[in-house]
Amino acid sequence: MLPEIVDNIRKLKHSATARIARIKHYQGKHFCPCCKGRVIAFNNWQHVQGETCPHCGSARRHRLLHLFLTQHAPVMFEARKCLLHIAPENYLRRLFQKNPSIEYISADLSMENVMVKMDITDIQFPDDSFDFIICNHVLEHVIEDRKAMKEFCRVLNPGGFAVLQVPVYPDKTIEDSSVVDPQERKRLFGLEDHVRKYGQDYKQRLEESGFIVKTFAVKELFTHEQIIYFGLYEGETIYTCFKTEKGFQNIRIDNLSSYH
Ligand SMILES: [Zn+2]
Repeated sequence: MLPEIVDNIRKLKHSATARIARIKHYQGKHFCPCCKGRVIAFNNWQHVQGETCPHCGSARRHRLLHLFLTQHAPVMFEARKCLLHIAPENYLRRLFQKNPSIEYISADLSMENVMVKMDITDIQFPDDSFDFIICNHVLEHVIEDRKAMKEFCRVLNPGGFAVLQVPVYPDKTIEDSSVVDPQERKRLFGLEDHVRKYGQDYKQRLEESGFIVKTFAVKELFTHEQIIYFGLYEGETIYTCFKTEKGFQNIRIDNLSSYH
């Protein structure tokens, strides 16, 4: 009984704090699409300025994907579709799970709160199982990333698409699987648990794994004012991957001005 009371008090306190924050930010000039909250200023995270939402904690990459999927891939939310979400982020999981038309499967190898334990280099589902696959900032942690890309291509429905986001740097990809020291990995690849630093050839690597790839630059999708408004990173690119050209029909690019 006591733990239940403590838990309820904790939830009430959290809810009150969240309400106070909403009031404080009521006249903010920014907006988080993940929690629909007004924001005075996005919070800094490590050395990155304006990264996280003060209400829900979403990062720039979550806000970008949330906007892209809801505005440019509305088909995801319209008919009965099967979605595979790897290393599910709560900011996106909520969006998918609240929609009854999505048959949602969350999966990961090490996370606890997922529906399926999955090694993405050896996926336990048959060919063409999923209409959509979302895998956000995972492949840079995977040594056999080409194997994972091929597996995603195998289990993707020919009429569907995958969004496979990674941090991409200006030069060519650098990787060295013999580097295992966390500090050396951080120095070479950006973070202690990254096994490579992807470069501008990331698209080519996806294509070599069997995908047809269409990229969308943030600058192409949003105006400068919108990038500021939603707290996005203007240098980011979205990598949409298709198994056949039929998959293109899922993406709408005729509504670029519908963000406000
Ligand atoms: Zn938020």
